Amino acid sequence: MPPRTHYVPYTTLNSDVNNTVMNDRVDRPTKFSKDEEHHLEQAALALQEWGVPLSIDEFLNLAKQYALSFNRSHLFSNGTPTTASNTTSPISIAAKAYAVDSESTPFKLFNLERRMPAADDVVIRIHYCGICHTDIHQVYNEWHSSKYPMVPGHEITGIVEQVGSSVKHFRVGDTAGVGCMVDSCRKCHLCKKDAEQNCLDSCLTYNSTELDKVTPTYGGYSNIITVKEHFVCKIPKNLPLDAAAPLLCAGITLYSPLRRYKADKNTRLAIVGLGGLGHIGVKLGAAMDAHVTVISTSESKRDDAMKLGAKAFLVSKDNEQMKAAENSIDLIIDTVSAPHDVAPLINLLKFEGVYCAIGAPTKPLEIGAFTLLTKRPTITGSLIGGMKETQEMLDFCGKHNITCDIEKIEATPETIKAAYDRTVKADVKYRFVLDILNAFK
Ligand code: NAP
Ligand code: ZN
Repeated sequence: MPPRTHYVPYTTLNSDVNNTVMNDRVDRPTKFSKDEEHHLEQAALALQEWGVPLSIDEFLNLAKQYALSFNRSHLFSNGTPTTASNTTSPISIAAKAYAVDSESTPFKLFNLERRMPAADDVVIRIHYCGICHTDIHQVYNEWHSSKYPMVPGHEITGIVEQVGSSVKHFRVGDTAGVGCMVDSCRKCHLCKKDAEQNCLDSCLTYNSTELDKVTPTYGGYSNIITVKEHFVCKIPKNLPLDAAAPLLCAGITLYSPLRRYKADKNTRLAIVGLGGLGHIGVKLGAAMDAHVTVISTSESKRDDAMKLGAKAFLVSKDNEQMKAAENSIDLIIDTVSAPHDVAPLINLLKFEGVYCAIGAPTKPLEIGAFTLLTKRPTITGSLIGGMKETQEMLDFCGKHNITCDIEKIEATPETIKAAYDRTVKADVKYRFVLDILNAFK
């Protein structure tokens, strides 16, 4: 396959639900490059040798039509534009979604096109999508990097509806999960060591672009998505698709640092913040036999923390409790989404303990120099996990029967807004999951 030097945006937009998406097709150039034509001529000659009665020109024409109908835009290079009306084959899949147009406008119904599957693509009918606090940061532009219109959602589970010709591990009808990424360069040293999430060219599931740096990506508050096989996971059969959905982000985000810092029976682990990420961290940490302490702003979450598998509970606002627990923790995983004081947390660490930030508040962390000098802590962070590790996490959850505690809700613009408001108030047990399958009817 020649290098992918030129991309054509495959997703066209139509925010007016009354228009049909087929009217909005983009023109796509269909002339092959010299390299591509050479490969195709070789293929045509081989076919003639086998007795297939096709001239090279006829074969090239067929190949072009095939490429167009399957939207193999990576086979196209600059050349004569041909409109989609030249072919009767579909070039995209009409999809529906909920999107916002700006940080201050409500969700609305939004039509978009997903690409037809290329050889390595899987098309998924989305059944469920979790609401991650990241969706809230992004929709409200709290990280100052939001692009609109935005269709959030990166905790996706569903069923495979179509597969491309070279897809190896998925068949129509299989369960499938998609998390925070849909592509990466797959060539750099980070991709090669299964850390696609750290690839400088990684393509996020939404508020990002495809590798062409042009085509916007749209997330899981939508009924259909087309994703490269490499970025699709299998959901173990014993896990229900609704309660498994948040594993695709919350699950891997906790699993990865727990494995990296070797949480086991000798680890005194503290999870800060009992929200979507935190509650799954307690379950995973307990399943790895770590001694788990939950640190929460709310005494009211004590019983839940214990039921989830914690052995101890601290209220972060209670100075006496926090003081008594100083120098007792090996590994802190801080999931808090809002600005907060981390100095009392670092004080909990043993000498050379690890503080790992995974929450993404809008203000920088402040850590006193003397704490660093005397305690020599490792101050670090972690971003989701690679695809291999994500599958490993799902298999681990399958083996230990771990799913998320969810509030499954109808998916409408109003219910999404209400869920966002409650999540911001830390009033959810412990993850909202949108019932996408029954939306958009
Ligand atoms: P969440 O469900 O809203 O949970 C956050 C928890 O933080 C709350 O339940 C609350 O726990 C605590 N909290 C909230 N406001 C607080 C405050 N002012 N002071 C102290 N504690 C507070 O959010 P989430 O979905 O778990 O996400 C948490 C953060 O992780 C977000 O910033 C998100 O963007 C980020 N994230 C990072 C990654 C990554 O790869 N690193 C992946 C996904 C999400 P208590 O009620 O127990 O205090
Ligand atoms: Zn997330």
